[in-house]
Amino acid sequence: MTTRIVLATNNAKKLTELRRVVHAAGIDVEVAGLADFPAYPDPAETGRTFEENALIKARAAAERTGVSAVADDSGIEVDELNDMPGVRSARWAGPACDDEANLQLLLDQLEGVPAERRGARFVCALAWVTPQGEERLWRGVMPGRVAEHRAGERGFGYDPIFVAHGHDVTTAELTHDEKDAISHRGQAVRSFVSWLKEQK
Ligand code: IMP
Repeated sequence: MTTRIVLATNNAKKLTELRRVVHAAGIDVEVAGLADFPAYPDPAETGRTFEENALIKARAAAERTGVSAVADDSGIEVDELNDMPGVRSARWAGPACDDEANLQLLLDQLEGVPAERRGARFVCALAWVTPQGEERLWRGVMPGRVAEHRAGERGFGYDPIFVAHGHDVTTAELTHDEKDAISHRGQAVRSFVSWLKEQK
């Protein structure tokens, strides 16, 4: 019998990505989005870690929809900034700012910082919560460094200024498949889906 789960996001790209990985794993799971259920207010992301925020979103979705829910939370940690922006990555330049303002602020903050001190990593936490209250977490990490200048048009967020370990171009210059294969989100999603496969 087909199992129905919900991905707690309004981001259509994340939904497509999870459906693709579930399909590739050959498991009989239908991945719904929040748009398939009556709307409810976004819970406040008040956690101090990616895991806490992912759990907040997955718990709200499981409670509101009555089906098992998965949610992610992600961001970039920069060594020179004591691991910030971290959970504040989406709002780094202020509550109403966009990717461009966030990226520019980070570049400005690292102005003059030498290459060996520009270490950074993208982190993604994925939470799974059932309506019965079972909870599980996975984490994916993509280590690398913050570039001195932006390059590349693909991806989103901080991709134009992030160079993954072992690469010499930014993640905005990689193809989507190349990025998925090494990314924090790709790793977390694949771990989750292989666990899901074992449950079936
Ligand atoms: P969210 O988890 O989708 O809310 O992402 C949080 C923020 O982290 C985004 O707004 C981006 O600024 C940043 N971020 C997370 N993952 C990536 C990525 O793969 N590339 C670039 N920026 C990212």
